[in-house]
Amino acid sequence: MKSSNTNQIGVNSVNFKRANHGFFLWFLSVISFAQFSCNDDIPAASQDRFVDNLYGNTTGLELIIAYEQGADPYTSFGGFDNWRITDYNLNQLLGTQKIPVKVPHVLDSMKNLGVLSQNNYTRQNIIDIAADVQRYSNKDSVKSIVLLFLNGYLIKDGVIETRVLGLNIDGSAVVAIFKPVISASSSKEAEKNMVEQSTVTHEIGHVLGLVNNGVPTTSLHHDQANGSHCSNANCVMYWKNGAGEVAQYIDRFTRGQDITLFGEQCMADIKAK
Ligand SMILES: [Zn+2]
Ligand SMILES: [Zn+2]
Repeated sequence: MKSSNTNQIGVNSVNFKRANHGFFLWFLSVISFAQFSCNDDIPAASQDRFVDNLYGNTTGLELIIAYEQGADPYTSFGGFDNWRITDYNLNQLLGTQKIPVKVPHVLDSMKNLGVLSQNNYTRQNIIDIAADVQRYSNKDSVKSIVLLFLNGYLIKDGVIETRVLGLNIDGSAVVAIFKPVISASSSKEAEKNMVEQSTVTHEIGHVLGLVNNGVPTTSLHHDQANGSHCSNANCVMYWKNGAGEVAQYIDRFTRGQDITLFGEQCMADIKAK
């Protein structure tokens, strides 16, 4: 499907290529100081889980993106359309379920929340902000995932978490991205841009039921010790850090190639759901 927005010239003609493990080695090195928080230690939000209503009766999925003033998502780097990465990966993942995903690519298609009254955010704050932005019910055939870009940090158990990049409120279609952590993840602009897209794709992976988080596994790749994560270090659902190379990936990134983020095991799980 087409995205709702006009992409950069040439974007639609890009020939996507599969699998470059160099990317993940790079990515993991970039985020070595930061981490995904995800949903592993947070109780289920409700018994009415988003993922339980998703497969089988959904004709379309829309990403609704809202951002706090000063925390706006990166949209392009070096003439490269960033949101193509999330768009491509979600449509690749859900293509086997015939669920097209509509992803905004430009700020004009995202909601500006202005300056919010708080500096940092609890889980409940995030749920409340998302409720004002959500436009669909879990029961609708068209559903949406709400993605909030916040100009502050997560507050967990009263502690400000300065290293948490993003969070999926467990069982819900709500994802928060903590922009100051993304901005501080690297001194290089290209890397910050990629960390942001990878974090978004990772957290949405949880919303969609990965790993063993509503979608059963079809192979042994659930890293149970680390929550709903993948044991494949080359997959975007891998839980964290490593070391590796940057330059090769950046080059491919700016040429618009090789942006597959989900590993084959995770893709097989969704396909079999
Ligand atoms: Zn995670
Ligand atoms: Zn995986």
